[in-house]
Amino acid sequence: MAPMLEGFAGQEVALRLVANALQRDEVPHAYLVAGPRWLGKRRAALSLGRLLACHAPRLESTDGPTPCGECRSCVLPFGPGTHHDLVVIEPEAPPAKTAATDEASGEASAESVIAVASGVIRVEQIRDAERRLSRSLVAGRRRVCVVPDAERMCRVASAGNAFLKTLEEPPPHTAIVLTASNPADLLPTIVSRCLMLPFHPLSAEQLARAMCWVEGGAGVAESEAALAAALSCGRLGLAELMVREPGLRQVRDRVLTILRESWLGGGLGSLRGPEEVHSLCVEWWTRTAGAGAAGELGATGRERAVRAAAPELLAFMEGYIRDVMAFRVGARSGLQNPDRAEDVAADAQRFSPEGLIARLRALARTRRALAANASSRLALEVALARMRNLPR
Ligand SMILES: [Zn+2]
Repeated sequence: MAPMLEGFAGQEVALRLVANALQRDEVPHAYLVAGPRWLGKRRAALSLGRLLACHAPRLESTDGPTPCGECRSCVLPFGPGTHHDLVVIEPEAPPAKTAATDEASGEASAESVIAVASGVIRVEQIRDAERRLSRSLVAGRRRVCVVPDAERMCRVASAGNAFLKTLEEPPPHTAIVLTASNPADLLPTIVSRCLMLPFHPLSAEQLARAMCWVEGGAGVAESEAALAAALSCGRLGLAELMVREPGLRQVRDRVLTILRESWLGGGLGSLRGPEEVHSLCVEWWTRTAGAGAAGELGATGRERAVRAAAPELLAFMEGYIRDVMAFRVGARSGLQNPDRAEDVAADAQRFSPEGLIARLRALARTRRALAANASSRLALEVALARMRNLPR
């Protein structure tokens, strides 16, 4: 079966909203692709942009609307810098006062990547985007402005307000597509001006199918896609990254090993645990933030990387503990960690439901401590100590 609009596989509600607006020829000025991290929202936003720029979108298919692929907009690659009518607003690295430092240690560039990954969108960028949006149309039916992770725009009040003006009075023939993991962090006045497209995690089967589409049915073995689908809890963006970056799988493998060493009280492993989880957080962060981040981070950069990555690593532990709980009550399929079924079965004999719930609570406390700016090293140390010391 032909793929539907790229990035929208399994997102039926969102796709229907897009299709209805196009069929009625009542395309809103702005869309907000909203849902948890790692669902592939940025790609979906660009793909929606390509559809909105198309002169003759195909609307008749039961699989939803698709760009025609042939008009003068569709023949251009739809990406920043390759399509004249597309403006993408993303955080920029801080101004390069540090070219020399870059060469000397590589540290500054890694810090810049941190700034971009967790960064903000400045008011100058909004003004620049406004200028580009006011130019005349070149190839597309509409000009398209895509703002991935629009929360980063609202962290600077002046940028959020400047953008609000664009939203209130967009230049004619302009469509704006925002994405957000936490729409609550956007200005309410921004949210209210957008048609919200809800994105949600997919079922394991939907996700495995979506991955085969994305890769054109080649490259990803079915078993590999199925495992990545389970490990990523239905998040397409993360599943694809895990297939592309085997190092991420290894990070997850080590995290589960450390969890089990801790709660089985195994030798040196449990003493080294917190330090290693700390390093694994940094590794996870550098691998998910893109190639540029591989350089040595300074102490501040490391701490921020750990804070950004720790929730994902804690989620692996939580997923494993939930698997053990599910196994205890008879579940034998649908595990989040199907490749660890033997360990899960063994641990289900060792731990009581109360012991498992207490450990999940302890991990939830660790999340809260990290969110409240506790020392990440201490928080992880306490978490692993609780895994070990709480009654089984
Ligand atoms: Zn077209």
